[in-house]
Amino acid sequence: MNRSRRATAALHVVATPIGNLKDISERALDTLGDVDMILCEDTRVTRKLLDRYEIDTEVMSYHQHSDEKKVDEILSLLQSGKELALVSDAGTPAISDPGGKLVEAVKQAGIPVAVLAVPGPSAVISALSISGFPADKFLFLGFPPHKKGREKFFKEVAASGHTVAFYESCHRIKKAIAQLADLLDSERELVICRELTKRFESTYRGTIAEVAEMEIPEKGEFVVVVRR
Ligand code: SAM
Repeated sequence: MNRSRRATAALHVVATPIGNLKDISERALDTLGDVDMILCEDTRVTRKLLDRYEIDTEVMSYHQHSDEKKVDEILSLLQSGKELALVSDAGTPAISDPGGKLVEAVKQAGIPVAVLAVPGPSAVISALSISGFPADKFLFLGFPPHKKGREKFFKEVAASGHTVAFYESCHRIKKAIAQLADLLDSERELVICRELTKRFESTYRGTIAEVAEMEIPEKGEFVVVVRR
């Protein structure tokens, strides 16, 4: 990294592909190649991307179960002037993934670190971009809770006057569709985006009554977008 341009350490928050490894920016590749260390969720996932682009920067795991000791270790690396990159398994760090907690910890530590965005893909934005629904304003709700608060979550979707997007796992996508079918007006439209940018990318669209009748494989990754 060209340190002469910056007096302080830096944490580069780098977006990576959500499936298709070609979806990475030149600046992201430069950053990942130049930093002292890359913080990632699953080192195997990130290594696959780095190997593809012949980047041999050291990686260190930072994930949802990382404890305070790990955060302190990262903060002292930054304090000693290291340049770090933060990536997640897919997409933009901090958008419904553990990266957000680290950025918050860095900001709260009050140490002189430049936190810099290297923007790129995010599943929610990709889904909205192909939904064909109004997205000048939208509500993004992350993942529905598994149990407590789940019904309240779907009531919020149903009551919203905005286009709503949320993530759901393959284990609960059927349940989510059933809950939407219970709560939404039967004519309200939605699109379910599965495996965006990947080999088995597919979208399921229609009214909630129609989508509830579709055969949707309970495999892969999903974004649900409900029209306002
Ligand atoms: N930070 C990521 C982003 O910017 O997209 C999201 C991380 S969140 C832990 C992972 C969830 O994003 C998945 O469970 C799925 O709901 C959604 N997701 C990620 N990649 C996807 C893809 N290729 N197709 C559909 N949904 C995807």
